[in-house]
Amino acid sequence: MAESADVVVAGAGPAGAAAALVAARAGLRVVLVERGPFPGSKNMYGGVIYPRVLDTLLPRWWEEVPVQRWVTRRATMVMTGTKALTVEFRGEDWDAPPYNGATAYRADFDSWLAGKAADAGAELVCSTTVTGLLRDGTGRVTGVRTDRPDGDIRASLVIAGDGVNSFLAKEAGLYEDWSVTHFTVGVKEVLALPREVLEDRFNLTGDEGLDIEILGGTQGIPGGGFLYTNLDTIAVGVVLSLAGLRDSGKRPEDIIAALKDHPAIAPLVRGGELKEYSAHTIPEGGMDGMPHLAADGMLVAGDAAHLCLASGIWLEGVNFAIGSGALAGETAIEAIGSGDTSAAALSGYRRRLENSFVLANHRKLRGAHKLILGKRAQTVYPELACGIAQRVFTVTDPQPKAGLRRWVHDERKRGGVRLRDIVKDGWVGWRTFG
Ligand SMILES: Cc1cc2nc3c(=O)[nH]c(=O)nc-3n(C[C@H](O)[C@H](O)[C@H](O)COP(=O)(O)OP(=O)(O)OC[C@H]3O[C@@H](n4cnc5c(N)ncnc54)[C@H](O)[C@@H]3O)c2cc1C
Repeated sequence: MAESADVVVAGAGPAGAAAALVAARAGLRVVLVERGPFPGSKNMYGGVIYPRVLDTLLPRWWEEVPVQRWVTRRATMVMTGTKALTVEFRGEDWDAPPYNGATAYRADFDSWLAGKAADAGAELVCSTTVTGLLRDGTGRVTGVRTDRPDGDIRASLVIAGDGVNSFLAKEAGLYEDWSVTHFTVGVKEVLALPREVLEDRFNLTGDEGLDIEILGGTQGIPGGGFLYTNLDTIAVGVVLSLAGLRDSGKRPEDIIAALKDHPAIAPLVRGGELKEYSAHTIPEGGMDGMPHLAADGMLVAGDAAHLCLASGIWLEGVNFAIGSGALAGETAIEAIGSGDTSAAALSGYRRRLENSFVLANHRKLRGAHKLILGKRAQTVYPELACGIAQRVFTVTDPQPKAGLRRWVHDERKRGGVRLRDIVKDGWVGWRTFG
């Protein structure tokens, strides 16, 4: 392992690998340090990547990216205790380059992306944990400590891509505001099914895949659920507000079990053999939870910088990690080229993020998590939507059909839903998503 480098990147997840790839391509000496035995070995997520962010970084990425299935069907399911209303989109375009999303295993995807950084010249050092920052007398970051004997690496710049709860960003004093409300916990089961059973059950052929996002299936705890199809496994899980989980006194495994027992989900997971159970925190506070992004000699990218969006319709983090990592790499090239890696010189990183989809999306959807995790979106509106759907689809002969206006009115009264709240939330939703 090199004792010095231009750039040390901590963590070979999507953020770290993208940063290392960009910096190494420009000829910088880069060391990419990963605590796991290989990239992706320690990483969990729901299961869908949105790889269009790679279009410029790795043109024609789809010819080699290791995916399970291309997502050709995207559904949102709104759920009550016993009912479910699903809206599903199917797109033929999504089954051909440049695709839209894909299910992928992180062990495959992260190894592939980090391999690209290594091909570009970065030194990938696995089974090695960054244990702290090296600093000079002024407090400026000058490298990292690792758990190897004589494992210090000096560098002009450190990029922290060490994921949520980044202790490097904390050690550098970049987090001012730290609140449990900025985090959710994701819990997932991977269930194996024979490929032909899975394809038959989900009506999939070839490499087609289905992505279902679920609202309302979390026993009243603010959050959501998901179900994704891989080649011969399905990933089913929930994302739960940490504070809500704490207050409920329930256990995440019981919430998943209840989701799997729901009449809309049980037939989809029946007979699945449990292969994996995993849990991980998610930085869901959006811009409210974001740390400062630069210190003297250091940048922060990906989940370490809270660049993850879970806003009901979308659950995205890998793309933001790659996007922010690549921009951290570009900033490193500029700063090292000019011989100035002070926080002031690194401020171009924030500008780059602001001018890209990364912070543009976070800014636009700033209020989304509060709206989606609110009580009305979590429990009141799913009841209302399912109740109205049931009335619409129930044939009432010999009574004449009462009509949509009446059904909406009756369901609203039944659930005690005030028109004022619907208008208010509708307006907030329109301003957020519109
Ligand atoms: C339940 C769940 C579901 C999700 N679903 C999706 C989804 O479907 N689609 C999506 O796009 N995103 C999803 N996300 C979010 C996504 O996983 C993250 O946003 C993304 O992984 C962030 O990438 P990263 O590189 O910043 O961090 P990570 O992927 O966490 O990578 C950090 C890396 O740093 C390494 N590391 C950490 N500390 C050290 C250290 N001290 N020394 C050396 N190495 C270290 C880790 O081993 C890891 O390899 C989900 C997250 C969860 C928890």
